[in-house]
Amino acid sequence: MIRTVKLGIADHIDCAHFLPGHPKCGQLHGHTYRIELVIEGEKGPDGMVLDFDEIKSGLRAVIREYDHRSLNDFLEYPSVENICDLLRSKLEPQMRFPFTLRVWEGAGKWAEG
Ligand SMILES: [Zn+2]
Repeated sequence: MIRTVKLGIADHIDCAHFLPGHPKCGQLHGHTYRIELVIEGEKGPDGMVLDFDEIKSGLRAVIREYDHRSLNDFLEYPSVENICDLLRSKLEPQMRFPFTLRVWEGAGKWAEG
């Protein structure tokens, strides 16, 4: 049986957004989005799946584009589900392992995909 290990990192971005037509979230406001990336793979001969630095820099390269920006510049309806999908689609081409992305919108709310 092949045994895999999960590795996770977290980073964050600060963004503005509004949800067009939404009674509460239709006004421009901001969140800190905590982004957790978990990869899963087999350890190599060096005892590691992947160097943490490599995971961190890969995620940073994707999310930096959105930091201190309005997410409405990138998405028509920047719900946390759509933000998660967007970031996932940007990460997919560079990931060598299966991964899960969890995006927190402030404290206590997240989407995962
Ligand atoms: Zn919001």
